[in-house]
Amino acid sequence: MKPGTDKTNKDPETESNSQSGLLPVFDAADPLQIEKLYRAGEYIMRQGDVGDSAYFIQSGRVLISLTRPDGSELLMGQRGAGSLIGEMAIVDDGPRSATVKAIEDCRLLEISKADFTRALRNSNPIVGLVTRLILLRYRDVLQRSENIKDFSAATSMLEQLEKVHAEESRVLELVRMANEFRVAVARNQLFLEYQPFVNMESGKVLGFEALMRWQHPVKGKMRPDLFIPMAEDTGLIIDATRWAFRESCSTLKRLQQACGDTSLFMSINFSALDFDDPAFPDEMMFILHEIGVSASNVHLEITERLLLRHSDQVRRVLLRCRELGMHISIDDFGTGYSSLSYLHQYPVSILKIDQSFVRNMIGDDSSLSLVKTIISLSQNMGFEIIAEGVETIEQARLLLGLRCHVAQGYYYARPMPEEAALMLLEKRHG
Ligand code: C2E
Ligand code: CA
Ligand code: CA
Repeated sequence: MKPGTDKTNKDPETESNSQSGLLPVFDAADPLQIEKLYRAGEYIMRQGDVGDSAYFIQSGRVLISLTRPDGSELLMGQRGAGSLIGEMAIVDDGPRSATVKAIEDCRLLEISKADFTRALRNSNPIVGLVTRLILLRYRDVLQRSENIKDFSAATSMLEQLEKVHAEESRVLELVRMANEFRVAVARNQLFLEYQPFVNMESGKVLGFEALMRWQHPVKGKMRPDLFIPMAEDTGLIIDATRWAFRESCSTLKRLQQACGDTSLFMSINFSALDFDDPAFPDEMMFILHEIGVSASNVHLEITERLLLRHSDQVRRVLLRCRELGMHISIDDFGTGYSSLSYLHQYPVSILKIDQSFVRNMIGDDSSLSLVKTIISLSQNMGFEIIAEGVETIEQARLLLGLRCHVAQGYYYARPMPEEAALMLLEKRHG
């Protein structure tokens, strides 16, 4: 049979084996499947087909072969755990250059073309160019070498090298985590905790920040530092942010109703990629309308780094959000090493002084003078100011003395589930 003409993955010789029921029933087309299973004898990909995924082999072995223009078959070698197969298809739109067949039952971890394209777009453009050029040249050599001999012997060394590269780059771990995170978003493994913003004078709770956690089925509760960078690199953050937005605004509605305080606000963390979609602000408005929360009770937390990209797109989206009534809050303020002139160009309402300055301001003069500068800057420019990471009464007193009234930090409360947030409101307001 001509390669690429059979669209099923069944090998006619072993089809009966693969239906023996020895392995669990598996739907290779299910996008939420973390691992793809192929039984011994099944074709994973065929030369000439259009492909949109590459795979890391987790376990099992495959045979790689290609058909020469004269119809004869060329064995390219075998690959086992740790190897990557089908990687060319996720770099360019060319057809599969070889046929890959499972010779043992295989567990594969998928990298989709969409994910790879996004990762490449987020990386240094030189990386993308070099990757594409290497592939172009490899395809060219393959096409011109009519009389290449079987590779079988030569590939064992290549396989070893590939394995070492994969292990060193920790890519396998990242790909696995990305696949697991995709499932986490779809299957409700994410949840939010809420940390209050407190008026240090009156003790009143003014609002909450929504902080994301991942209830991992094996690793347990995971803090965002462990998965947000991966979610940002892979673009998976976009769906997670949309989920967090809806979830935290629903919580806000319930909290407002329970304590009868409609001025209570929710502050939500956003990443750069969230602003790539111009329809995003209006989508958020639709959700707010559905839930019954006013846009003015929503704060979008973004970092200085995001503004430093100087992208017109980000500016437009932020302006639209402000126009619709939402507030823009600059997170970790003071860590961006930037000129402050850019603050004029964006519709900023709030600056959050980074925790590191608050932590060090007693005892470290440069931190203290930075805190003072940020506070007087805010007063001059008409921004509200929030101190992050307040852990002691001494820090709270010092900040109050500097005329900073709103704080967030362990001294007042740690991030907590919605029920605890409700109890806190009842205690403070009741
Ligand atoms: P962040 O936005 O600066 O959030 C504040 C972090 O400091 C939180 O850590 C909070 O638990 C912690 N914190 C609050 N008060 C204190 C204090 O008094 N002392 C100390 N030592 N820490 C305090 P968390 O929840 O682990 O979040 C870490 C970071 O992950 C966040 O930093 C934010 O950058 C990111 N993140 C969290 N949730 C989301 C999300 O939904 N979307 C995005 N894009 N990023 C998120
Ligand atoms: Ca934040
Ligand atoms: Ca912060």
